[in-house]
Amino acid sequence: MTEAHDGHQHPGIDGDDGQTYYARRAQAIEALLVAKGICTTGEVQLAMEQVEARSPADGARVVAHAWVDAGFKTRLLSDPIPALAELGYALAETTTQLEVVENTDEVHHLVVCTLCSCYPSTLLGRPPDWYKSLAYRSRAVADPRGVMREFGLNVAEEVKVRVLDSTADLRYLVLPRRPAGTEGLSEEELAKLVTRDCMIGVTDALSPVSMASSA
Ligand code: FE
Repeated sequence: MTEAHDGHQHPGIDGDDGQTYYARRAQAIEALLVAKGICTTGEVQLAMEQVEARSPADGARVVAHAWVDAGFKTRLLSDPIPALAELGYALAETTTQLEVVENTDEVHHLVVCTLCSCYPSTLLGRPPDWYKSLAYRSRAVADPRGVMREFGLNVAEEVKVRVLDSTADLRYLVLPRRPAGTEGLSEEELAKLVTRDCMIGVTDALSPVSMASSA
């Protein structure tokens, strides 16, 4: 419901029909796009289904493949869109650019969208609520090491921390370091060590030891 407030309108929590302001606004925008012939209802539905079908398992599959295939990793880091197409991810259809950044023993990348919630949804699905929170968006920039400590990650002082600010035009996927002791694992087993959070950069990939102890 839209409420008058100090002489201007701002959104309330729920409308009388049980829908939020934002849900009704999205429906109104969709109706206008369809009415103007910019897209069809079917295209909107398909795009929504594609987003809903994505999850961090998609990103994990990409990371695990990069860990086992050095040539793919090089292509992924230098020109990710065609590299991702090799695995069936069609990002060329969108105008958004994607950059894949590699965490190493020298540099650790942390991704944030300081403005809103820009995120590589094609590879990770929907962003978690904390990613969209004002606290994360501001503190990731002001105190990235402190934020990572709260996620359980202590980045050594000698490792450089790079904070990357996503935008609607350029999004980032972190390629985490391959954990030690994973030499004998298959690509499928490696993918299980790749969490959503390590592809945002707030944590490292899981170690096989931590997987075994939590099982
Ligand atoms: Fe954003």
